[in-house]
Amino acid sequence: MAKDFVKEITARDDDFAKWYTDTVLKAKMADYSPVRGAMIILPYGYEIWESIKHSFDKLIKATGHEDMVMPMLIPESLLQKEQELINGFAPEVAWVTQGGTEQLQERLAVRPTSEVLFSDYYAKVVHSYRDLPLKYNQWVSVMRWEKTTRPFLRTSEFFWQEGHTVHATAAESHAETLQILDDYEKVVSEYLAIPVVKGQKTESEKFAGAKETFTLESMMADGRALQSATSHDFGDKFAKAFDIKYLDKNGEQQYGNQTSWGLSTRIIGGLIMVHGDDRGLKLPPKVAPTQVEIIPIAPNDDVLAKADEIQAALKAAGIRVDMDHSDKKPGWKFSEYEMRGVPVRLEIGPRDLANAQVVLARRDTGEKTSVAIADLATEVPALLDAIQKNLYQQAAEHLASHTYTATTFDEFKEKLGNHNGFVKAMWCGDEACEKAVKKETKAGSRCIPFEQEHLSDHCIYCGKPADKMVVWAQAY
Ligand code: AMP
Ligand code: ZN
Repeated sequence: MAKDFVKEITARDDDFAKWYTDTVLKAKMADYSPVRGAMIILPYGYEIWESIKHSFDKLIKATGHEDMVMPMLIPESLLQKEQELINGFAPEVAWVTQGGTEQLQERLAVRPTSEVLFSDYYAKVVHSYRDLPLKYNQWVSVMRWEKTTRPFLRTSEFFWQEGHTVHATAAESHAETLQILDDYEKVVSEYLAIPVVKGQKTESEKFAGAKETFTLESMMADGRALQSATSHDFGDKFAKAFDIKYLDKNGEQQYGNQTSWGLSTRIIGGLIMVHGDDRGLKLPPKVAPTQVEIIPIAPNDDVLAKADEIQAALKAAGIRVDMDHSDKKPGWKFSEYEMRGVPVRLEIGPRDLANAQVVLARRDTGEKTSVAIADLATEVPALLDAIQKNLYQQAAEHLASHTYTATTFDEFKEKLGNHNGFVKAMWCGDEACEKAVKKETKAGSRCIPFEQEHLSDHCIYCGKPADKMVVWAQAY
């Protein structure tokens, strides 16, 4: 079947990966592009991205961050300045080697991330404690030459925000990293209704060049993990490589302390895979481009006039509402808007009009209720609120019921083998054990959750003393 023409969405239980791409394509969120691994983000997908952008932007602006924008190309010599970073990203960098007909003297990297550009700039402008902190952010796309790609989840070019800050002290950069993680949590759980496990990445999983990486891990409907956002504390590592120094109040030279943090279009993939079902998308009302779709049934002029009136009233109440006037069959419209994840369908026909009521159908539960037209401006917001809460609740229950604990490696394998999900188990801190667990089970260490439990005294793999509980899972 042609990739760009999906008639039916594959059932989730038959093939979850196929269900995912069918949904993305059929809901017209994104499409394949002629560029390797890159996608076309279509209006429905982009509107969701803009809405996510807006919700996060408000939070960071409130804490004094400013937007700016760096060039997309990085001279090779600059990228080489921080060894861990270049080692980590080398296999994924795309290079520009020619300009017009001219071979370049120095290759230019298409930014995979912009730490070096910010660091280079900070070295130029930071001189005194009075210059600090600098809290910048940019909304741009970056490029990573990924081996396997999938719309939203992993693309070669992806959109994100990357925040880059520099502070006077290590305590301040650490606090910034955690504050941003809290902001991410607000967007992901309160706005997108996706529950998260908050924690720290292990040494081997942390960002190349970071002192500490913090993460939000979410569980998809198939039990696999998605890294939903990350926040890195660099301490003075980049400052030392780039010579970012300032004079403190005592006139002594100090290195700056930096952070960076990113939330990408990947989260849209998470939104789809956490809430969707066999009919397609289920969008949380807060992020849904259309919250209510009005569908007139066997409409006469009176019904249409009333429907217009209702649309205007809901709009005035601050609800994102749309009406489908087309002459397509109601059944077609029902499944179309269900597939696109619209939280509420409002049906109105001659009989409803005679009773001064309409039918409201919930996308999350399928439940239908009759509501008096006079009550819509209060009932609809309440219903949207209930749907938002229910979607979060369902996802939280799924996360809880698919999170297991294990105290022996046999138990670990059995739990993962029987059901997909997260396994909590103790770890000694040795990278060799972490690697071995991943090799034997495909489940990698997702994070060391902030909320620790003491499950046993021994490492799940080697049996040596262990005091850290790790969440393990297969991931996207
Ligand atoms: P990183 O800079 O690797 O910490 O990634 C920052 C954010 O971008 C994380 O939330 C990642 O999940 C996300 N991300 C990393 N690589 C990709 C990719 N190829 N496509 C989409 N999102 C990505
Ligand atoms: Zn061990």
